[in-house]
Amino acid sequence: MIIPIRCWSCGKPVGHLWEDFLAKTNNRTKNVKETLDELGLERYCCRAQFMGHVDLLETTSAFKKF
Ligand SMILES: [Zn+2]
Repeated sequence: MIIPIRCWSCGKPVGHLWEDFLAKTNNRTKNVKETLDELGLERYCCRAQFMGHVDLLETTSAFKKF
């Protein structure tokens, strides 16, 4: 859906890094490892969230809630 504000596993705040991550990696097409290092994401739990995240907010917001 949207990137969590804190890492699910360790609790480190990561939500504010998402826009930077997308901009620096050109939407995850290059330098993912270097960008994660630059952003200070050292633990694999936080890194996995950024690598595996799929932003579906716009897709799901097309459907009405009943
Ligand atoms: Zn973590």
